[in-house]
Amino acid sequence: MLRLNELRLPLDHAPEALPAAIAQRLKIKPAELLAFEVFKRSYDARRGHPLTLIYTLDITVANETALLKRMAGDNKIGPSPDTSYHFVGQAPANLQHRPVVVGFGPCGIFAALLLAQMGFNPIVLERGKEVRQRTKDTWGLWRKNVLNPESNVQFGEGGAGTFSDGKLYSQIKDPRHLGRKVLAEFVKAGAPDEILYVSKPHIGTFRLVGMVERMRETITALGGEVRFEQKVTDILIEDGAVRGLVLESGEQLRTDHVVMALGHSARDTFQALHDRGVFMEAKPFSVGFRIEHPQSLIDQARFGKHAGHPLLGAADYKLVHHASNGRSVYSFCMCPGGTVVAATSEPNRVVTNGMSQYSRNERNANAGIVVGITPDDYPGGVMAGVAFQRELESRAFVLGGGNYEAPGQLVGDFIANRASTQLGSVEPSYKPGVKLGNLDTALPAYAIEAVREALPAFGKQIKGFDMHDAVLTGVETRTSSPLRITRGEDCQSLNVRGLFPAGEGAGYAGGILSAGVDGIKVAEALALSVLKG
Ligand code: FAD
Repeated sequence: MLRLNELRLPLDHAPEALPAAIAQRLKIKPAELLAFEVFKRSYDARRGHPLTLIYTLDITVANETALLKRMAGDNKIGPSPDTSYHFVGQAPANLQHRPVVVGFGPCGIFAALLLAQMGFNPIVLERGKEVRQRTKDTWGLWRKNVLNPESNVQFGEGGAGTFSDGKLYSQIKDPRHLGRKVLAEFVKAGAPDEILYVSKPHIGTFRLVGMVERMRETITALGGEVRFEQKVTDILIEDGAVRGLVLESGEQLRTDHVVMALGHSARDTFQALHDRGVFMEAKPFSVGFRIEHPQSLIDQARFGKHAGHPLLGAADYKLVHHASNGRSVYSFCMCPGGTVVAATSEPNRVVTNGMSQYSRNERNANAGIVVGITPDDYPGGVMAGVAFQRELESRAFVLGGGNYEAPGQLVGDFIANRASTQLGSVEPSYKPGVKLGNLDTALPAYAIEAVREALPAFGKQIKGFDMHDAVLTGVETRTSSPLRITRGEDCQSLNVRGLFPAGEGAGYAGGILSAGVDGIKVAEALALSVLKG
């Protein structure tokens, strides 16, 4: 099979135009084209260019060797790379203790799945509840202002990304095509096939719930075990190596291998590991607000006359502004046609994030507008980033009226630094509700200054982005982990053998796809450490 990259066709091309264009590009007769498969389909929506679809294709032709020789100087044509997944080994029959995976978010799911597929019979410990029960608890905060600190948007089966837009792309380097393995497993678990070939796949909340359940069933069928409401509270270390875990119930679980896939919100567990001397360090993250616009405004700005085209779907955006005070402001976790959600896991705190359904047909587009910060902004050691997040989230709770409503402000008022008293044309979607006021004190002055400068600059890139009635809600603090549980080349903790810090909480992923990929890498590293003895 050969790979043809960057074949461009008009947005509304007829289906038969694709094989014709392939034959023309490869300079072969139509009959010599035996088969083709779309590996990726993206689009070019840059202004001033006609909107085109861009295909990457895997193609079978009558005489591949001759064609590749003839096209040798063409850097868009070559043999198709092998993107299939190959296991690094199989579990030995005499494994004394089963490996344990802590956390059943995308990282823990893939670590457990891979370990199960290699015959390691992993035990998964998840502090939250199974996904259906968790969904009810999460809605409890959104509809009834009642938070369950152990079962919410951050904690429970499926992890943080379960109630999300389910975006499945990432900018990580992936020479071994592990992302493809993640997507292929998602398809097996019920995701639409298109996630394998569209350039920016997404799944949406509703489908994710069913997929997570099916992946759990697969792990169990392969000999794994998934236990819910089992919070890990301590780690047992002897002579610099893991010897077991302590659960909240008091139970001690003997194991020599632990994948710690905690997510970025397991602050109590970070503290427990820190208290045990596990090496970790503070790392940069970002803080800011969520912004909401009419989705139609974003579609119009991005796609012009093609807005609403079914192949394009609801438009997204990605924005960056380097502010004059040296801070970078950027859009984060943009959710087309979605809603802003209450995402705290701790009582009396307010945190925003975004989600959508597969259809992405809600009225508003939302995204985080966040400012990069570094440990210099919150000096005080490894746990200082957590303290900094908590302070901002508590402040937002008070500004929101102390009942889990989010503090909000219209963009025009925010830019003019005047409190908002009335909504305009944009109805914010955050539940349980939004309390209008002035967000001026919701973030440190440097961050407010930077966002105030960035919004009009973004308005030059997306017409109307700085419209008066767009709504800001806050605060967006759980953008990534405020610390890294540092690991070596072998994916093990720098000072505790057998401990494999993984995923977003350990500072090695950001998003569902990269967390899944990290889960695979860590499962492989664990398997190799067992096999090498
Ligand atoms: P998590 O998913 O956070 O999972 C960690 C798990 O560990 C949790 O289930 C938690 O309960 C459990 N746990 C923690 N401590 C313990 C303990 N002590 N004992 C036992 N279990 C424990 N990313 C995208 O790529 N696309 C999106 O569209 C997207 N949208 C998002 C929307 C929302 C509302 C949120 C909150 C996040 C979104 N993200 C999105 C980010 C994405 O969800 C995370 O990057 C991803 O889930 C990280 O995976 P993880 O497995 O490393 O951690």
